[in-house]
Amino acid sequence: MSLDQGTRAVIAMEREQDRAQLILTLRRNGITDPAVLDAMERTPREMFVPDYFVPHAYEDSALPIACGQTISQPLVVAMMTQALDLNRRCKVLEIGTGSGYQAAVLARLSRRVYTIERHKPLLREAESLFRYLDLHNIATRFGDGSQGWPEQAPFDRIIVTAAAREVPEALTAQLKPGGHLVVPVGPEGGDQELWRLTVEEGGQVDRVSLGGVRFVPLRTGIDDGREGSR
Ligand code: SAH
Repeated sequence: MSLDQGTRAVIAMEREQDRAQLILTLRRNGITDPAVLDAMERTPREMFVPDYFVPHAYEDSALPIACGQTISQPLVVAMMTQALDLNRRCKVLEIGTGSGYQAAVLARLSRRVYTIERHKPLLREAESLFRYLDLHNIATRFGDGSQGWPEQAPFDRIIVTAAAREVPEALTAQLKPGGHLVVPVGPEGGDQELWRLTVEEGGQVDRVSLGGVRFVPLRTGIDDGREGSR
């Protein structure tokens, strides 16, 4: 059974309390930026998870979504968003739309979000949620995000929500001087580290570790429908 969007909206209201509780958890775990907390409080995570997981939408954990992918843990979404240090003038690129949850949070804090996904069903579902939530400053693209979005470059900020083996050079090249790239780096299922890279005016790249994480892998190419696992 699939819940219609109206029913989901009613559930969304009932979930306000759960959402407030989650915000407290984020605060306790080092999320101090009020704008980030506010953006997360205004983003109904239960709309981005499969029906079966709606009761778990406000637990601080990653959950399965279609195409064998995951919606990230809220604390990780908050940490990555805070590390991006966004403002309303920012043009942001996201690699790995997935459920669209992270993009929805980014959209409330920046001028425009460009998000790329290699699984078409995920992208279509996310697009319909963006419309439903009146998030009109999100541009989407079906494709391999490890190449970035050259036609729209440069970006003020770039966020990768799948683990790369190495920092994709195409992405640092599409970042404006002074801009930040937040990216998990490491092997599939192994030790991954979340990095924030900053490209200085002179081209020098500074990196700061934000700690250990566990993400699905950044893959090359698009899903041609033969990857199975839905
Ligand atoms: N930001 C998402 C997290 C989804 S998980 C959310 O908030 O739900 C990571 C996503 O990255 C998956 O949907 C996966 O299909 C996608 N992905 C992996 N490699 C990719 C690539 N090269 N280009 C675009 N998307 C990619």
